[in-house]
Amino acid sequence: MRKTMPKTAKKPTRSKLVKKLDVIFSQFIRLKYSDKYGMTKCFTCDKRDHYKSMQCGHFMSRKHYSTRWDENNVRVQCPGCNVFQYGKQYEFGLKLGQQLAEEMYIKSKQIIKFTNDELVEKINHYSSEVKRMT
Ligand SMILES: [Zn+2]
Repeated sequence: MRKTMPKTAKKPTRSKLVKKLDVIFSQFIRLKYSDKYGMTKCFTCDKRDHYKSMQCGHFMSRKHYSTRWDENNVRVQCPGCNVFQYGKQYEFGLKLGQQLAEEMYIKSKQIIKFTNDELVEKINHYSSEVKRMT
Protein backbone atom coordinates (compact mmCIF):
# COMPACT_ATOMS: atom_id res chain seq x y z
CA MET A 1 0.00 0.00 0.00
CA ARG A 2 1.26 3.45 -0.90
CA LYS A 3 1.87 5.79 1.91
CA THR A 4 0.74 9.33 1.44
CA MET A 5 1.97 12.27 3.38
CA PRO A 6 -0.59 13.50 5.84
CA LYS A 7 -2.03 16.78 4.79
CA THR A 8 -1.26 19.56 7.19
CA ALA A 9 -3.92 22.09 7.92
CA LYS A 10 -2.96 25.38 6.40
CA LYS A 11 -4.22 28.63 7.78
CA PRO A 12 -2.95 31.22 5.36
CA THR A 13 -5.89 33.49 5.96
CA ARG A 14 -5.29 33.77 9.67
CA SER A 15 -1.57 34.43 9.49
CA LYS A 16 -2.22 36.99 6.79
CA LEU A 17 -4.77 38.71 8.99
CA VAL A 18 -2.33 38.78 11.91
CA LYS A 19 0.38 40.26 9.69
CA LYS A 20 -1.97 42.85 8.27
CA LEU A 21 -3.19 43.84 11.72
CA ASP A 22 0.41 44.13 13.00
CA VAL A 23 1.25 46.52 10.17
CA ILE A 24 -1.77 48.78 10.52
CA PHE A 25 -1.64 48.72 14.34
CA SER A 26 2.02 49.75 14.28
CA GLN A 27 1.23 52.61 11.93
CA PHE A 28 -1.62 53.70 14.17
CA ILE A 29 0.52 53.70 17.32
CA ARG A 30 3.32 55.69 15.67
CA LEU A 31 0.83 58.24 14.32
CA LYS A 32 -0.99 58.45 17.64
CA TYR A 33 2.18 59.73 19.31
CA SER A 34 3.28 62.00 16.44
CA ASP A 35 2.84 65.72 16.06
CA LYS A 36 1.42 67.30 12.91
CA TYR A 37 4.82 67.10 11.22
CA GLY A 38 5.01 63.37 11.84
CA MET A 39 7.68 63.80 14.50
CA THR A 40 7.62 61.57 17.51
CA LYS A 41 9.96 60.37 20.21
CA CYS A 42 11.14 57.08 21.59
CA PHE A 43 9.32 56.09 24.78
CA THR A 44 12.42 54.68 26.44
CA CYS A 45 15.27 56.99 25.35
CA ASP A 46 13.50 60.17 24.19
CA LYS A 47 15.25 60.15 20.80
CA ARG A 48 13.23 62.24 18.35
CA ASP A 49 12.62 61.16 14.78
CA HIS A 50 9.98 60.92 12.08
CA TYR A 51 7.37 58.25 12.79
CA LYS A 52 8.32 56.38 9.63
CA SER A 53 11.79 55.77 11.07
CA MET A 54 10.41 54.58 14.37
CA GLN A 55 8.91 51.31 15.48
CA CYS A 56 6.03 50.05 17.54
CA GLY A 57 7.52 48.63 20.72
CA HIS A 58 5.78 46.15 22.99
CA PHE A 59 6.15 46.04 26.77
CA MET A 60 4.96 42.44 27.04
CA SER A 61 6.24 40.57 24.00
CA ARG A 62 4.20 40.15 20.85
CA LYS A 63 4.06 36.43 21.50
CA HIS A 64 1.32 37.15 24.04
CA TYR A 65 -1.76 37.62 21.89
CA SER A 66 -3.89 39.03 24.71
CA THR A 67 -1.73 42.18 24.83
CA ARG A 68 -0.34 42.17 21.29
CA TRP A 69 -2.81 44.79 20.08
CA ASP A 70 -3.54 46.43 23.41
CA GLU A 71 -2.80 50.15 23.11
CA ASN A 72 -1.71 50.25 26.75
CA ASN A 73 1.01 47.72 26.04
CA VAL A 74 2.68 49.51 23.15
CA ARG A 75 4.54 52.75 22.60
CA VAL A 76 6.77 54.29 19.96
CA GLN A 77 10.36 53.10 20.17
CA CYS A 78 13.47 53.75 18.14
CA PRO A 79 15.07 50.72 16.46
CA GLY A 80 18.00 51.08 18.87
CA CYS A 81 15.81 50.40 21.90
CA ASN A 82 13.31 48.07 20.27
CA VAL A 83 15.65 45.79 18.37
CA PHE A 84 19.18 46.22 19.63
CA GLN A 85 18.24 46.50 23.28
CA TYR A 86 15.33 44.07 23.15
CA GLY A 87 12.70 46.69 23.91
CA LYS A 88 14.37 47.85 27.15
CA GLN A 89 11.57 46.15 29.02
CA TYR A 90 12.65 47.33 32.47
CA GLU A 91 12.73 51.02 31.48
CA PHE A 92 9.53 50.50 29.51
CA GLY A 93 7.81 49.22 32.64
CA LEU A 94 9.10 52.10 34.77
CA LYS A 95 7.74 54.61 32.30
CA LEU A 96 4.37 52.88 32.11
CA GLY A 97 4.15 53.05 35.88
CA GLN A 98 3.71 50.17 38.28
CA GLN A 99 -0.05 49.88 38.02
CA LEU A 100 -0.24 49.71 34.24
CA ALA A 101 2.86 47.52 33.99
CA GLU A 102 1.33 45.04 36.40
CA GLU A 103 -1.99 45.15 34.60
CA MET A 104 -0.29 44.37 31.28
CA TYR A 105 1.81 41.64 32.86
CA ILE A 106 -1.29 39.89 34.23
CA LYS A 107 -3.26 40.38 31.02
CA SER A 108 -0.41 39.00 28.92
CA LYS A 109 -0.66 35.70 30.80
CA GLN A 110 -4.27 35.20 29.77
CA ILE A 111 -4.83 32.95 26.81
CA ILE A 112 -6.87 34.72 24.20
CA LYS A 113 -7.67 33.46 20.77
CA PHE A 114 -9.16 36.08 18.55
CA THR A 115 -11.49 34.83 15.85
CA ASN A 116 -10.80 35.80 12.25
CA ASP A 117 -13.83 38.07 12.40
CA GLU A 118 -12.41 39.86 15.40
CA LEU A 119 -9.10 40.34 13.60
CA VAL A 120 -10.91 41.78 10.58
CA GLU A 121 -12.84 44.08 12.89
CA LYS A 122 -9.60 45.37 14.42
CA ILE A 123 -8.01 45.83 11.00
CA ASN A 124 -11.00 47.89 9.86
CA HIS A 125 -10.99 49.95 13.04
CA TYR A 126 -7.28 50.82 12.89
CA SER A 127 -7.37 51.38 9.12
CA SER A 128 -10.01 54.05 9.53
CA GLU A 129 -8.11 55.59 12.46
CA VAL A 130 -4.95 55.76 10.34
CA LYS A 131 -6.89 57.29 7.48
CA ARG A 132 -8.30 59.89 9.86
CA MET A 133 -4.81 60.85 11.06
CA THR A 134 -3.00 61.01 7.71
ZN1 LIG B 1 15.09 54.62 21.95
